[in-house]
Amino acid sequence: MNLNSCIQCGTCIASCPSGRITALNTRRIIADFISSGKKVEERDEIWFCVTCYACQERCPRGIEITDTLIEARRTLVKNKGLPGRLSNAFTFLMNKAALVPAREEHVELRRKLGLPIYHAQFDEKAREEVRRIVEKHLGSVVR
Ligand code: SF4
Ligand code: SF4
Repeated sequence: MNLNSCIQCGTCIASCPSGRITALNTRRIIADFISSGKKVEERDEIWFCVTCYACQERCPRGIEITDTLIEARRTLVKNKGLPGRLSNAFTFLMNKAALVPAREEHVELRRKLGLPIYHAQFDEKAREEVRRIVEKHLGSVVR
């Protein structure tokens, strides 16, 4: 079933765990596509989808909503690379083997207390392993 068969019932967004707390609204994405031709890959909020497939499973029209979002993300990454914030996150992961940067004041406090700093919580071998995995799978799309 293609997106044009959507009847705007809202079952997808009512089932969406991400839509409760983010700007993701699959019903609206599809409505805009039908009414103005706005492509799914032009919607920044598609990155909030956690691919749980609840929407796709419950859609009364059998629209492959999750697969459409995944395909849109794939097209985006292929054409433009990862969006800035994800690219930054993976670059950080590649360089530091951690996804969230440690806050300076926490690093300083741990240093004062004689605790190891965050990145030192993993041994060098583990960090190198993480770097190699990210580089191998995402190196070409991280910009
Ligand atoms: S559940 Fe299906 S038919 Fe209903 S609004 Fe969502 S995509 Fe459209
Ligand atoms: S697959 Fe994505 S869009 Fe669909 S319900 Fe789950 S989080 Fe929402």
